[in-house]
Amino acid sequence: MPFKPFATVPGDHAVFRPSDPISKRAVHVCILGGGFGGLYCALALHRRLGKGSPVRITLVEPRDRFNFTPLLYELLTRELAPWEIAPAYRDLLKHTAVDLRQDWAEHIDLAQQTVTLRHGDPLTYDYLVVALGSQMRPPATPGSQSHTLPFNTLHDAEQLERRLGELDHLPKVQVVVAGAGPSGVELACKLSDRLGSRGHVTVVDRRGEILRSYPARLQRAAARALAKRGVEVYLNAAIDAVDAGGLTFGYEGKPRHCQADLMLWTVGTVPRSWLGENNLKQTPFGQCQVRPTLQLPDYDNIFVLGDMAAMPAPGRERAPTTAQAAYQAGPAVAKNLLALIADRPLKPFVYNHLGDMLTLGQGEAVVCGFGLCITGRLGAFSRRWAYWLRLPTMAHRWRVLRYRLGGNSSHSVPTK
Ligand SMILES: Cc1cc2nc3c(=O)[nH]c(=O)nc-3n(C[C@H](O)[C@H](O)[C@H](O)COP(=O)(O)OP(=O)(O)OC[C@H]3O[C@@H](n4cnc5c(N)ncnc54)[C@H](O)[C@@H]3O)c2cc1C
Repeated sequence: MPFKPFATVPGDHAVFRPSDPISKRAVHVCILGGGFGGLYCALALHRRLGKGSPVRITLVEPRDRFNFTPLLYELLTRELAPWEIAPAYRDLLKHTAVDLRQDWAEHIDLAQQTVTLRHGDPLTYDYLVVALGSQMRPPATPGSQSHTLPFNTLHDAEQLERRLGELDHLPKVQVVVAGAGPSGVELACKLSDRLGSRGHVTVVDRRGEILRSYPARLQRAAARALAKRGVEVYLNAAIDAVDAGGLTFGYEGKPRHCQADLMLWTVGTVPRSWLGENNLKQTPFGQCQVRPTLQLPDYDNIFVLGDMAAMPAPGRERAPTTAQAAYQAGPAVAKNLLALIADRPLKPFVYNHLGDMLTLGQGEAVVCGFGLCITGRLGAFSRRWAYWLRLPTMAHRWRVLRYRLGGNSSHSVPTK
């Protein structure tokens, strides 16, 4: 059981006031992973506690930049600059009491309440928040790892940009995207617009439909966008092998070889594994089983959220593995953590599905929610606005807005 250094705080919100009795020692909250779950939890904790609080917050994150993944595609068409969607943690956390450790967490010792780091000294925690996200599904197709590029991070987007630069001299560029899920469809549309008449984009998926599990209206809008760009789509097509010149897949009972100068692999992700004892309760998909409050079943002082956790969701088996779900869970965990420290009742996390959004090329998007489906330029504007509101800090949001309204002047804006 975690120790509880604060007396109960009356009232509905777990906000600490200067008059709250404080125990003899400070409390240490460790957050592993600075993505949508972890960073937004750290920022919410800071907002609720303020500076000078006896609650120490340490965020362990190996990258130097937060990656706002839903907007990564905009880098390919240069609609957004890297600093807008991947602000440095140093800047985001500058005026907060969050201590950033740029390191990998390697092992969690539940009994000793310690986290081993790859480079730095181990951390001892009173409360732990684990939000390590997902990683690429281990490659099962021969050649896929060595001949295709992933698209999950800013680093991947930069790698793709370099590869596109290497192909600049070609009069025609053949691109194959493996996977017709959201990443595959969004990449296909953006790359098609980026390459224009030089490009020929093909999407291959072993399933029978694009964007499985998305609303039919959104699937139709995506199919129209792909068709408008001349993107060739092969469904019910299982990829057998990938080599330097292209990929081979079975289609309508026959093997086919599709030549490619550039191949992208977007066939799904799996949750990152728990860093420690393997006897935690997990779902068949590999997510940690959590209580409705997002605590681990046997550990009051450990919260798991985001892609790694089977988070509850009304009317669904579990919340989707999306930024939308992790972004909602971060502040909910912060609230519960403070309630736990203050010895007050915790509240169940309630996922609220706000809709679905996809970019469908340069200046085009589809936004479906609350019975409405907006497409085209209006869709692109609505999506950009919705994401602007969700950028990590107010300061970063204003910086981006000033830059956009100021005619993209490079004044006081980082070069990266
Ligand atoms: C290209 C792309 C586009 C996407 N588009 C959308 C979209 O349009 N809408 C949507 O809702 N979702 C989208 N998603 C999904 C969304 O990004 C994830 O669901 C969301 O990021 C999950 O949040 P998380 O906090 O669980 O993990 P993440 O945001 O992935 O954060 C995990 C963090 O943990 C860090 N980490 C990993 N291992 C360790 C370790 N050992 N020690 C310390 N830190 C570690 C990682 O560096 C990372 O920063 C997209 C994903 C991708 C890849």
